[in-house]
Formats: sequence, C-alpha cells, structure tokens
Amino acid sequence: MSTTFACQNCGASLAFDGVRTATCPYCASPNFVERPAATEQPDPQFVVTFIGDAEVARRALERWLGSRTMFADSRLRRAKVEDIKGIYAPSYLYSAVANTDYTAQIGENYTETETYTETDSQGRTQTRTRTVTRTEYRPLAGRHVSYVTDVVVSASAGLSNAELERVEPFDLKQMRRYSPALISGWIAEEFARPATECEQTSRREAVDQIGGKLRRFMPGDSYSDLAWKTHVSWESMDPIFVPVWVFAVRYREDKPPLRVIINGQTGKIHGKVPLSPLKIIAAILVVVAAIVAIVLAARAQS
Ligand SMILES: [Zn+2]
Repeated sequence: MSTTFACQNCGASLAFDGVRTATCPYCASPNFVERPAATEQPDPQFVVTFIGDAEVARRALERWLGSRTMFADSRLRRAKVEDIKGIYAPSYLYSAVANTDYTAQIGENYTETETYTETDSQGRTQTRTRTVTRTEYRPLAGRHVSYVTDVVVSASAGLSNAELERVEPFDLKQMRRYSPALISGWIAEEFARPATECEQTSRREAVDQIGGKLRRFMPGDSYSDLAWKTHVSWESMDPIFVPVWVFAVRYREDKPPLRVIINGQTGKIHGKVPLSPLKIIAAILVVVAAIVAIVLAARAQS
C-alpha cells in the first residue's frame, strides 16, 4: 500500500511504496506532508522502466560531481550522494501527423573570374584577374509530411519540461504497456499539469522538431528565409511514466537547491553546480601569477 506525500514548496505529490523520505526528493524541502492520493488521475498507458539500480546512478553522479567540485561551494561536497532518488515522473507522449508547407530561398554557389585594376609600387595601373565565389538564390516551396511519434513532455510539478528535455531522449522502443507492478517499489509522482497545457507544449515541440528536419534537408549550398506552417492532425496524448534519478541538495538556506537529474534509462545527466566566486578568483590569480613568472623568466634569459 503506498502513501502519498505533498511538497508545499514545489507542489509535487509523490506516492511512496515502501521507502519514505523526510524531505521532498525533487527540491529537498522539509515541508513535505502526508495527504490522501488524488482521485482524479489520468490512466498511465505506458512506462519507460529504469535500467540499473541506485548504485549505478550514484556512481554516475559521483563521477559527474567529481569533475566539477574544484570550484564548488564546499558545503556541496559534504552532501551525501546516498540522497539520490529514483522517481517515475508523469509525462505525456504526443504523436501526430504533421503537414508542413514551407518556403525558402536556396543559394547555389558559382565561381566567376573578374577583372580588376591595381596600382603597383611604381604608380602604374595593372589589370589583373581573380576568381570570386557568388551565390545565386532561387525560391523553393514545398510540402513536407511527417509523423511525430517521440515528443515527451513533463506533466510533473517537481520537474519542469525544460529540465526533462535536458536528459531526453528516452528510447521509446523499449517502452512497455503500463501495469502497477512495473513501478512497484519506486516513487511515482501524480500527474500535475493538465493534459491541455501539455498538448500546447507538445505541439510547440513538434513544430520545432519539424524546423530541424527542414533545415537538414534544404538543398543547395546555403539557404535563407526558411519559413514554415505546420498543421497537425491525428493527434494523440498518452499519459506515461518516465524514469529519472533526482539528486536535490539544500546546501545553503538562502539559495535554491542544487539539482542533478539523470535519465533512468540512458544515464544522460544534467545539473548545474553552484560555483564559489572566491575560488574562481583565486584560481584566476594563480594562473595570472604563473604567466607573469614565465614572462619574467623569459626576459631574464634574453
Ligand atoms: Zn518539492
């Protein structure tokens, strides 16, 4: 039987099955209280399951932190990597057929020999030739039809869509049909963002993705003025769970928590380590001092 806790800071409601934590796994806020599970929840259709256990995630996190702590606030280094938590984050998987009309100017390069005059050192005018590259533009318009099948947007209160994007993609070929047994023993967050809002975000992501595809298939040597209008049809939005490891530390009362996110399937990691300005200045001074010493030594020799 799982118990639901709500975070008064970030707003996430998380169902714990077995393990409990005193603080919110997303934001490390101690303002984390038990409350009844939400009754109105979408039915998850699919789940991308965790690959590897907490130990694998801890090692990845230690390596990542290890390469960044030189300039980090020392309180951060005392944080316990054991605090990493695996969460099934609620999301929507969006798919659609996208019909796109586009226009662009396609540039083709050609070379030309041109004649020019130059005045030499004796003041005589010389006629010379040189090869120049010029670009001729021609208009291009067309229609592009594609299937959008892999847009995943966050429906989580604790994890913004922008942050989830930093650890995407998930390998959706390994996605499984949801059953409660697949996530038992893990922390699962309740769906927090409405499907309509997630749909808007998904459409934006789909249109951006099409922009990327168009840019890749533009012919010619260069292009400009690429514009496109996408009409989506056959849209579907499936509630799914995606696996993320979250490491959140309040290393200082007056600062937002440090947070590192790891894709629970692929191991892709994202986070920002707060840097200590004093340590950075000290390191710059050491480098400057070393350069000054080298310059002085070189002068002394010459
Ligand atoms: Zn929280």
